[in-house]
Amino acid sequence: MPEKVVIIGSGPAGWTAAIYAARANLEPLVFEGAITQENSENGTLPLGQLNLTTEVENFPAWPYVDASVLEQFSKSALPPERFANLEGYYQSKQAHQGKRSAYGPEQMEYMRQQAVNFGTRIVTDDIVKVDFKRHPFLLTSLEGQTVEALAVIVATGARANYLGLPSEQRFKNNGVSACAVCDGALPRFRNKPLVVIGGGDSAVEEGAYLTKFASKVYVVHRRDQLRASKIMQQRAFDNPKIELKWNRTLEEVLGTDKDGVSGVRLKSTLDEKMEEVTSSGVFLAIGHTPNTNFLEGQLVLDENGYIRWTHPQRTYTSVEGVFAAGDVADSYYRQAVTAAGTGCMAALDAERWLGHKGLVIDV
Ligand code: NAP
Repeated sequence: MPEKVVIIGSGPAGWTAAIYAARANLEPLVFEGAITQENSENGTLPLGQLNLTTEVENFPAWPYVDASVLEQFSKSALPPERFANLEGYYQSKQAHQGKRSAYGPEQMEYMRQQAVNFGTRIVTDDIVKVDFKRHPFLLTSLEGQTVEALAVIVATGARANYLGLPSEQRFKNNGVSACAVCDGALPRFRNKPLVVIGGGDSAVEEGAYLTKFASKVYVVHRRDQLRASKIMQQRAFDNPKIELKWNRTLEEVLGTDKDGVSGVRLKSTLDEKMEEVTSSGVFLAIGHTPNTNFLEGQLVLDENGYIRWTHPQRTYTSVEGVFAAGDVADSYYRQAVTAAGTGCMAALDAERWLGHKGLVIDV
């Protein structure tokens, strides 16, 4: 028997789709991704990008709460083996100082558990191949498992591009971030100089956003001209807190494991000159890559590899019965809450499509 709905991906979009599909008696099967070295290096492990962030202050329903209350909440909500994934945070002294919002990893464990509570089944494996030219659709996993599905929701997200420097890796979550909106307001960045790497709209937008908190923002670009749109460029030039560092690349992130980032070493692209800049944070804004390699030739993708939604305000893709949710189809908003929203939409779209086609009775 084919599965009614298979969901590929385990970020906010995937789990929200699973919660809705499970509550609609569609018995969803989620491929949450494989735990491999490659996924670890690419930032594509199960639970998605939110799992790589610290506090999430902009997801509704998470006002600050005493940190110890969150530990108690996690203990109560999660089975011991999942609670164990969070124990490291609770053991660090920092986690128990004052009030905070939920961390990204906490939120992701809660979302996953909420889906499990309604009967979602989970496979910890990647889908590496799909055949959407037949129906039921055929999916093949990294470990070689094959699954037939009447409907598929693709929610594999996108990954932030990093430069690949060892020092960048060392300070991830300790001053290095690829999401100013997620992390910019954290106390460690307040009233301190910050560095943004990139010259596109994201770099300028993130730089401008960070000036709300930072004492100064250096936007470091490898050329002498921004790629960003003219209006965004003008905003950067007009902002007294932004200083452009032209013709430079990031050579090394400086700091200590205890205190995190304290500065950067920049290299000129014109000569061999090096320069050190004091900074308490480094924000990479050199683009994102959607996780769609396995969909080549199966779904219509845009020029940057994102899945194209084919109908306004629907999560339909170019193949009937295949729906897309979250960042894998959204290079514009890219927020946890918008991903969750489209995850809900995809499950409702799938439910209605299956009912309409008579593929699933009594859903
Ligand atoms: P992007 O336009 O591709 O720009 C990436 C920037 O990073 C470029 O300036 C590029 O330099 C630089 N870069 C790439 N690889 C690098 C490397 N290895 N080392 C140093 N620099 C590197 O990406 P984006 O800014 O994320 O924008 C993506 C899309 O979203 C665009 O279509 C953009 O217009 C849109 N967007 C729109 C808004 C808005 O309208 N408010 C906001 C954000 C994004 P080069 O210029 O030298 O190639």
